[in-house]
Amino acid sequence: MKKELKVVPIKNGTVIDHIPGGQALNVLKILGINARTNAVLSVAMNVRSKKMGRKDIVKVEDRELKPEEVDKIALIAPNAKINIIGDSEVVAKHKVYLPKSIEGIIRCANPNCISNAEKESVISKFITVSENPPLFRCFYCERIIEDASGNII
Ligand SMILES: [Zn+2]
Repeated sequence: MKKELKVVPIKNGTVIDHIPGGQALNVLKILGINARTNAVLSVAMNVRSKKMGRKDIVKVEDRELKPEEVDKIALIAPNAKINIIGDSEVVAKHKVYLPKSIEGIIRCANPNCISNAEKESVISKFITVSENPPLFRCFYCERIIEDASGNII
């Protein structure tokens, strides 16, 4: 109960919990929620957590995020827990599962990669090598990305 005081409870929507501390804004970016959004959001950052040290929590009101939307956040939050809230009750819980390949969310760290060439308009593509810790290999140049959080487009 005490933990819940950090963020206002919501009646309907989606709660994303157990985001590593400091990654909430990257999570919003991956979900396509930006400054132009109309969504009612609450973001709690660096909440103390026994398990994680510090964690972030994101609540999106009146929107039930679909597993395929949410799975992409496993890139930076492999232990995230998704709670779907209906009428102030948790009606469903999901874990996130990394997709086998990721297109257009992370930028390749190799400046010479074809996915970084302005002329080419090639959308970046990464193959998931390992889920936890997350590890990705560029489909084009095979560069390995260890920490996607610094490379979110
Ligand atoms: Zn590459």
